[in-house]
Amino acid sequence: MADVGEHALIARVRDRVPPAPGWVAVGLGDDAAVIVPERNALEVVTTDALVEGVHFDRAFTPPSAIGHRALAVNLSDLAAMGAAPRAALLSLVLPPGLPLADFEAMVDGFMALAAAHGVALIGGNITRSPGPLIVDVTAIGTARPRRVLTRSGARPGDEIWVSGDIGSAAAGLQSLAAGACEGGRMAACESAFLEPQPRVRLGTLLGRNRAASSCVDLSDGLADGLHQLADASSVGLEVESAAVPVTAEARSWFEGRGLDPVTAALTGGDDYELLFTVRPKGRSRFETARRQARGLRLTRIGTVRREPGLNLMRGGIAGPVPAGYVHFQ
Ligand SMILES: [Mg+2]
Repeated sequence: MADVGEHALIARVRDRVPPAPGWVAVGLGDDAAVIVPERNALEVVTTDALVEGVHFDRAFTPPSAIGHRALAVNLSDLAAMGAAPRAALLSLVLPPGLPLADFEAMVDGFMALAAAHGVALIGGNITRSPGPLIVDVTAIGTARPRRVLTRSGARPGDEIWVSGDIGSAAAGLQSLAAGACEGGRMAACESAFLEPQPRVRLGTLLGRNRAASSCVDLSDGLADGLHQLADASSVGLEVESAAVPVTAEARSWFEGRGLDPVTAALTGGDDYELLFTVRPKGRSRFETARRQARGLRLTRIGTVRREPGLNLMRGGIAGPVPAGYVHFQ
């Protein structure tokens, strides 16, 4: 890739971008993008970078998965706010040794997820890196006024819910890093790590239906999400250990390594599920959202308490919720 100039690389990105929707007044190729705001909507904006050696290892992360993940983590943040994604900006900081085919596969992975969620790539930047590969994304979404979800709305008595499975991505990362030859047995966990599916539809349904009193996405694991939600809402949380949804595949992976499966699932990162609370009074609105989110597993894992502190209940005995995930160094 060292022989290919920045302009040639930008051309390869532009070749992969479909025609812009009508609300993009000025798209790729100018000094900045210009977009027409959606009527009666709030703009929700987020940014997140993936850094080689911190968030992924190129030895076992295919380039298409790096592109996918870079957008997925941002769409997950928008989903946690109840926002529907609309546009993204992509900034690539590339080491000279990166093969051109890897660069193209990375952009393809990004664009495939963008297409799946109707996200327009409206701008970006390409720079050389003297060190690691960095993929930095900014995502823009919209939500109706008074339909935005935040971390701070949980109140005592609310139910605590989580989407999908917890710990699969952590087990998948461990399996990939170990180069474990499990005969495909870990395939679901590995793809949970490599190509997480941001809960875009669930987030917008929870927002539009005013079905959740608070919401956070689990980028750094369930334990971290619980701490964040409790801090932001100034409440305590009680979580039933046996209710935490861990797949049989992840459970047996953790047990095979002498780890307690629920602790490993709670402290593992990269789940990109939604953790949210539901008011008992808002239960019928939640059931509406739940019906519309058809097929996605939603599990009640506990209750919000007035008394501060996080308790993990095991057989009626309260223990602490472990601290959150620390990215591998
Ligand atoms: Mg987040």
